[in-house]
Amino acid sequence: MKSPDKAQLKAAALDYIQKHRQAYLDLGRDFYRHPELAFRETYTAQRLLDEFSALGLAEVTRTAHTGVTARLPLGRPGRNFGVIAELDALYLPNHPDADTATGAAHVCGHHIQTTALAGVARALKESGVAQFLAGTVSFFGCPAEEGSVPKELYDTLCREEGFHSASGKQEMLARGCFAGVEGLLSTHALINDSKVTQPALLSAGCDGYNRWVFDIRGRTAHPTMDPSKGINALNGAVLALHALQCVRESLALDDYSIILTAMDEIVQAPGAIPDYVRLRVTTKSKTPAILEEIDGKVCRAVQGAAGSIGCQVDCEKIPGYQSFIADEALSRVYMDNCQAITGTAVPVRPHGYYSNDLGDVSKQVPTSQIVVGGFSGALHSERFRIEDEEMAYLLPSKMMTCTLIDLLYAE
Ligand SMILES: [Zn+2]
Repeated sequence: MKSPDKAQLKAAALDYIQKHRQAYLDLGRDFYRHPELAFRETYTAQRLLDEFSALGLAEVTRTAHTGVTARLPLGRPGRNFGVIAELDALYLPNHPDADTATGAAHVCGHHIQTTALAGVARALKESGVAQFLAGTVSFFGCPAEEGSVPKELYDTLCREEGFHSASGKQEMLARGCFAGVEGLLSTHALINDSKVTQPALLSAGCDGYNRWVFDIRGRTAHPTMDPSKGINALNGAVLALHALQCVRESLALDDYSIILTAMDEIVQAPGAIPDYVRLRVTTKSKTPAILEEIDGKVCRAVQGAAGSIGCQVDCEKIPGYQSFIADEALSRVYMDNCQAITGTAVPVRPHGYYSNDLGDVSKQVPTSQIVVGGFSGALHSERFRIEDEEMAYLLPSKMMTCTLIDLLYAE
């Protein structure tokens, strides 16, 4: 018997998803109704483990506390491509659909990613398409993307589970979860409004960032009798802020470079010159090389400016997420499949100022992300709403499944 061609396999998978439309909507609503905060995604993780086990996937594993991985071996040996999803929600107790006990709400739409993670596995396996493909489809449910892990929880994870990072994907990278995977497909919620009306956009990339903590120390003295005997740490910080403003002006706009500052601690005895200020600086940019250049400028600016009046400056670098740049070849296949399903061209959304730990993964595995519409309001806000469930809960599974058929089809 002649095996079906790619078009027939795609038609069978799409037909399966559309026929089981209600089950996909139920799955999406269930994840939406169980928003959970970073490294506390226990319901979400268990639901994914149950889904993958019920479908008979291989190596169904819980990792990185609340992360989930699984593999779907196909008809014969071949290449390995995967689907990657984020599990966590945000703390936003004022959202109407927030969990009343924890204040968590799915206002970044990560629940559409988990829906697609399970949805692709269902479509490939249950439609019977998997047997005609070669290689492996890997599934990754990643905890804690939003960067909001409480210190006590993180300390416990380090102590009891040997954690290296408070980012779910960085921790999964450190554990070697993505070894052997040749490409990853990702999705994210896209807010539609009068300016953004498309059902889907390719996310070209986003910034990497680092955090810096500068401890500026001076010397106390009477502020009016003999200020010259003191070293005013607040003056040191003010000079540093001015120097950082000058550094900002030196950055090229098209490098998507940015410096954010916050002064979060000033120690000043009553009637004395302040002798301690903590300055926090976040540096962001499009590429690791530009970020390193900005980091150098920032350190020299703070140390030089505060040092000019005699302040001592100690600094600590806290690495953030790496920049994300979508893989071109993988994106082309993903965009073609999305366009074929929606009947609308998939424009490229330019590189953005936000950051995501998908960047760290993309430095090791070619990755592509198509963001899908059907949402209104704003991400990370009380106004976030799902307007089109068909788009939110079905489209990502459809476009990923068809892309995987292209990538893993064996003549
Ligand atoms: Zn988010």
